[in-house]
Parts: sequence; C-alpha cells; structure tokens
Amino acid sequence: MYNFLMAYIILNKNNFFHNLDIISKRTKSKDKIAIVLKDNAYGHGLLEMAEMSKEYGIKKAVVRSCEDAKRVEDFFEYILVLGEIPNSASKKVRYTINSLDSIENFPKNSLVELKVDSGMHRNGVLSSELREAFLRIKKAGLILEGVFTHHRSADELTSEWFWQNDNFKRVKKEAKALAEEFKVEPLRFHSANSASLFRSESFDEDMARVGIVSYGCLEGSDELKPVLSLYAKKISTRELKKSQRVGYGGRFVAQEDLVVSNYDFGYGDGFLRCLSNKFVAPNGERQVGTISMDNSSFLTDKDEILIFDDARVAAKQADTISYEILTSLKSYIKRWIV
Ligand SMILES: *Cc1c(COP(=O)(O)O)cnc(C)c1O
Repeated sequence: MYNFLMAYIILNKNNFFHNLDIISKRTKSKDKIAIVLKDNAYGHGLLEMAEMSKEYGIKKAVVRSCEDAKRVEDFFEYILVLGEIPNSASKKVRYTINSLDSIENFPKNSLVELKVDSGMHRNGVLSSELREAFLRIKKAGLILEGVFTHHRSADELTSEWFWQNDNFKRVKKEAKALAEEFKVEPLRFHSANSASLFRSESFDEDMARVGIVSYGCLEGSDELKPVLSLYAKKISTRELKKSQRVGYGGRFVAQEDLVVSNYDFGYGDGFLRCLSNKFVAPNGERQVGTISMDNSSFLTDKDEILIFDDARVAAKQADTISYEILTSLKSYIKRWIV
C-alpha cells in the first residue's frame, strides 16, 4: 500500500516489458514495433509510457496529434501522427494522409504516409485513387514514405480479416509499382494492430502498430500482463442501518446493518457511471449507490481499495471494451512506475 492521499495509478514496468518481449517475438524485431500512444497512451500516461518504451529499446511511436508528437519527440526516432495536419514539416514526425482532398493542405517537404481504405470505410483513400494520390503528393512536394491500412474486425474471428488482408495485398502490389514509377522507393507498408499481429501466423510487414497488447489487455490472450492498476482512497466511513439508502437518488437500500465507505474516484475521474450499483472490485468490495462525479461508495472500511488491475474485467462489467475503461482515466490522476 502506498501512502498517497488521492486515487492513483500504478504502472508495472516488468509487465510492460513482458508484453513487449511477447510482441517482439511476433514482429521478430524490436525495430518493427510502433507503440501506439494515442489518448494519453490509452490512459496510462503519455510521458510515462514513452519513457519506458525508450528504456526497452522501442524506436517508433504512433500518436494522434501534433502536440503529442512534440511531447514525445525526444524518446523516439520515428513518430506517426494519425489525425492532424501540421503547420510545418518535421524531420522525425510523419503525418497521415486520410483523404485525397487533404493532400494540398500539408506543408511542402512533410514526411507523409498514405492511409488506404481496405474495407473499414472510415478514413483513407480508396484503392482506385492510388495513382491520383501519388500524383497529388508529388505535386504538393511531400515526401511519401509509407502506405498503410487499418483493420475493422481483426479481433472478431470471421473471414473479414482475411478479406481485408487480400485487399491490402493488392494495394501493396499497386503501390510498389507506383513507387517505382514515381521514384519514391522504398515504401514502408503496415496494416497490423494488436489483434491482427496476434492472428498472423508469420508477420512479414515493415512495422506493427500495437496499442492494447502492449498494455496487456488484448481480449482472449492470457499470456499478457496488464500494466495499469488503479487505487482509490477512503474519504469517510459510516454505519448504515437496515433500510437506509446511499448516494444520489438513494438507489442502494441496505437490507441489513452495513458499513459503507466513500472513496475518491468518481465518473469525473473515469469511473463509468453505468457501473453504479453493480461494480465489484477485484478483491470483492462491492460498489453501492450511484457513482458520483468525484467519489463512489463501497461496502468496506478499508483505507484504500484496488478498483481494477485488469481493465478487461471492469470492461465486461460495464458492457464495453478495455479501451474505453482505460482512456476514460483522467490525466491528472497520479501515475507511478514500479
Ligand atoms: C488505435 C490504432 C491502432 C492500435 O490498435 P490496438 O487495437 O490498440 O492495437 C493501430 N492503428 C491505428 C490506425 C489506430 O488508430
């Protein structure tokens, strides 16, 4: 137990490195791992995860914004920004082209990677627009380094994953020919996220963009170790008499005399309110009453409780995915690396 005054997060470095060991066996090289750090590194803390990634020897990172790229610039040799167009070109940061029409908006000499829509129908140029994209990229004076795509259902055991792989295979072939024609060889190709990398029998791309698996929360995999644990601190304790109620709306009614305590973690901090009155912590403490903005009640008088040490378990209770549980955690919660 730590003697902190507020709810806090513990990041377990051994677990993170354990996951990275497993990942590098699949990619066959540390250099092919691009750690996905979007959304405050899936709630783990951008700088904390960047620092540990560097210590392990990871050289590539994927972020959402230019600002995040700037914050982690010193930790990596390669950074890919997924969702923003920069004001000026960078030597280290690569930017994603998400549509044909955006190409003219990138500053000249920007390092760019072209996202191709291989079936997700969210972002990216169509495979039929490849030549047009290469033309416009050249005309805009951008430096094309890579072509990539994203899977819509790598984590579902259907044939869709194979279908998208086939689509991307065709894209790769055409892009390689275009790269030769436009003299932009060699291009970097990548499509794998966590689930896709873990489904591949033999990974052979230039890079894998791994998020959830590095944090140890890929569904269906028990060799991984979750990196993040969240603890809350007690604010006060009281005895409840039979039939007394707890919290907003009095939604929990004591069926017998009980001890209830209030802890400093609420929906404003990232405790999904839909878990009210049904969440059970890993050590068995039951949450009761409506979860408030800054706090929540549990049937215990412990000074501190572990809220979760595996986001997948909490996700199941909330009928959501670990990604949402993790990215809901506010950045001001203290994070400690052990
Ligand atoms: C979020 C994201 C990833 C990582 O996905 P995981 O399932 O967490 O591995 C990879 N690529 C892109 C384009 C993403 O947006």
